[in-house]
Amino acid sequence: MKRILLIATGGTIASRETGDGLAPGISAEGLLELVPGIEGKVSVRCAELLALDSTNMTPEHWLMIARCVRENFDKYDGFVITHGTDTLAYTAAALSYLIKGSSKPIVLTGAQKPIGFDSTDSKENLRDAFLCAASDMPGVSIVFDHKVILGTRAKKTRSKSFSAFESINYPDLGVIRDGELLRFIRQECGREPEFSDRLDTRVALLKLIPGTDREVLDFLFSRSAAVVIESYGVGGLPESGGFYECVGEWLRRGRFVVLTTQVENEGSDLGVYHVGHRLKRELGVMEAYDMTTEAVIAKLMWILAKTKDPAEVEKLFYTPVAMDMFPR
Ligand code: ASP
Repeated sequence: MKRILLIATGGTIASRETGDGLAPGISAEGLLELVPGIEGKVSVRCAELLALDSTNMTPEHWLMIARCVRENFDKYDGFVITHGTDTLAYTAAALSYLIKGSSKPIVLTGAQKPIGFDSTDSKENLRDAFLCAASDMPGVSIVFDHKVILGTRAKKTRSKSFSAFESINYPDLGVIRDGELLRFIRQECGREPEFSDRLDTRVALLKLIPGTDREVLDFLFSRSAAVVIESYGVGGLPESGGFYECVGEWLRRGRFVVLTTQVENEGSDLGVYHVGHRLKRELGVMEAYDMTTEAVIAKLMWILAKTKDPAEVEKLFYTPVAMDMFPR
């Protein structure tokens, strides 16, 4: 029988009504008791790691989760991590870098409605997650609403529906139908995972709006090692307002810049328009292409903990990890 470690971190799935809004209050054991039929098919042990609304998650918590998987890696065949949905895509991306090339399934799940509610997606998501964790599917994934999504490609795209997540610029890895996992894609994986235990959290995100003041960007650069700018369309910056000068100045001072887009699908292509061309050709900013913003942020934190050498950073950034971007 497959041995699975259930790592609980909180989220709606484990929440109760407090009179003051939903808050996590159900333990990992408590979750299992409410979904009979999991134990018996697999042998489950529980780790009560956190009890957080995922709004409260920080990169420190990502490191804690990665450490828990690392410490238990040899003892289990797979891992299920229950987590709030709000920042689940960030955690999934971060774990994909912190536990690179896992040969074992590391499956994140959660729910839009608490497990104790009459109408809930918690039980099915949990059952599906265990099914995937007991399979031979390698690497980090999110299992939600019967879909299996690669950890580096997930985004929460619905705030209320059960179909909360989508895979961005990449197909779903598979679906679960009638209790059976149908895999569309077989990912490659290394034999031994490469664990990391450090992140440089000095990464900021600016969502551009028409009329953004360059001083906002200056402020972010003054406090960060890297700034991700979510611009428009295939990417670019306004030609007036001093943005190019600002970016050029902070690049010279050793900061890193990644341009990405607010458009959910199809990614950036900075060379297309005049507003983006110079940024790439003359200033040498990096661009996200088809990566999600969640993955860009987690990847930068992971890279900057290893090196600050510009050539190295760029090389690592454009090297695909867990299919986070198509090779170029
Ligand atoms: N606020 C909750 C959380 O992210 C939402 C959820 O889990 O669905 O923890």
